[in-house]
Amino acid sequence: MKRRTFHFLNLRSLMLAFALFSALATLANSLVVAYGVQRDALIHATLEANHAYAAKVASSIGAFIKSAHAHLHYSALQLAEDYANPHLMHAETKRLQAQDNAFNTVVITDAGGTVLHSHPDNLLAEGSKPDSEEMQRAVALRRPLVSHAYPSANGNLMVFISQPIFATDGAFLGVLGGAVYIQQDSALSTVVSNHFHHDGTFAFVADKHQRLLHHPDANRIGEVLDSSATVDAGLRGESGTLEANNSKGVPMLAGYAPVANADWAVVAQQPRGIALSTLGRLMRDMFLDLLPASVIGLLLLWFGARWITRPLQQLADNATQLSQPQTIDQLGRIKAWYKEPAAIRQALIDSVSLIHRKIGRLNEQAQSDPMTGLANRRAMDAALALLDQSQQAYSALELDIDFFKRVNDTYGHDAGDVALKQVAEIIARHSRTGDLACRAGGEEFVLLLPDTNVTAACAIAERIRASIEATAVTGVGHITLSIGVGCRGPQANSAAEVLKQADENLYRAKQGGRNRVVG
Ligand code: GH3
Ligand code: MG
Ligand code: MG
Repeated sequence: MKRRTFHFLNLRSLMLAFALFSALATLANSLVVAYGVQRDALIHATLEANHAYAAKVASSIGAFIKSAHAHLHYSALQLAEDYANPHLMHAETKRLQAQDNAFNTVVITDAGGTVLHSHPDNLLAEGSKPDSEEMQRAVALRRPLVSHAYPSANGNLMVFISQPIFATDGAFLGVLGGAVYIQQDSALSTVVSNHFHHDGTFAFVADKHQRLLHHPDANRIGEVLDSSATVDAGLRGESGTLEANNSKGVPMLAGYAPVANADWAVVAQQPRGIALSTLGRLMRDMFLDLLPASVIGLLLLWFGARWITRPLQQLADNATQLSQPQTIDQLGRIKAWYKEPAAIRQALIDSVSLIHRKIGRLNEQAQSDPMTGLANRRAMDAALALLDQSQQAYSALELDIDFFKRVNDTYGHDAGDVALKQVAEIIARHSRTGDLACRAGGEEFVLLLPDTNVTAACAIAERIRASIEATAVTGVGHITLSIGVGCRGPQANSAAEVLKQADENLYRAKQGGRNRVVG
């Protein structure tokens, strides 16, 4: 199976990508956690605020009912003293109706529930017996009551707040009650609306049949709610908070509380979306606050990644050109400041030195003649090409062993080889630093002498010739050689011409009787 590679990626990009990913993941995680915490705190605070709001409204309504009962109770005591007196009834009902603007209508009944007096008299005719269940309940129960909402005889939706009237001897005389029309401006609506609300927060009041007694949307007063968990809880006498959808499916954050002395519940609520609308701004502020530190962090990350990967990158660049002569120097200059690149650098330097040594040896082998150790023809041609380019003055000696065929024939090929090696040795011994002694082929040698004129070249040639003549070759005895000298000058300006000159002079030396130098 072929393994996938991603060679277009480099260490720095990978480190940066990885660090960036971690940093962004951490940032995102912090924002998500912060969002959750802030959201929960906001929801909690809103629920608590709405609960406090509902409790406050409920307590205000409770206080209103308590005060209405107190006023009715006081009047009931007055009426009991002279119960049948129409003047007294008129005065008390009028006073009650005018007092605090609490009641739209005030009614007095006898013990059987028949209306004795009402003020203003548009609600019930005197002598009539209203069949309203609530009014009959007040007569039957003989205790202070607050009714649920129900339509009055003249079509107004009302609640009835009542007190029993007892004579001083304890006999039940009748009921004194006030009707509050909930769809009109009344003391009750004033009590509820007085409370501060904002940002979509509103309160409503419902009776035990879940009929709305108060709602900021006046058109909804009197409407019976389908089902409301908050109203249910308030009617059970509980006080608390609830996160639930309203009848239209909008998620709401609600607080609820029961109204003391009445089977009513108050709910204060705010759409969840509005309550959380500040969250977006909060998160944006938080993000902006985090931004400078994040940017600094990213810059540090970038510089850090550069700093860490730089030596490795330089090592990788140099690893692609290990055979170049400057590579060891370049490797030495890399600041490998921590363990891994230092180890890799050392390993590269070691292997590069090894490679260079091997290449050097191979070069040497490629450029030298294996038998004599002198430079070979290829090295000689390269040296001549360089001399040609340099315009430098030089001389070339062509050296050829005399009657060498005869040496081979007489002493054998191996002895001939020995002679060749000894001649090569003598030539090498006479060459200076910078000279190049070559075996041009067979028993012919060339000695290149840079910066040497023809006179000096002839002198060197003569010394070599004399040395060979004087040396007894092992197993062969004395041999001689002839030397032709060529020199760069007006007649020979190229290597080919210099060699040709030397060759012609060598021919002359042979022709002239051998064992001589011709320059
Ligand atoms: P001259 O004085 O005219 O140069 O005569 P010479 O016999 O030296 O010249 P020639 O060119 O006729 O012969 C050269 C001989 O050198 C022939 C060859 O066998 C011998 N020779 C060439 N290379 C080698 C070698 O590597 N080893 C040995 N032993 N002999 C070699
Ligand atoms: Mg020859
Ligand atoms: Mg020869």
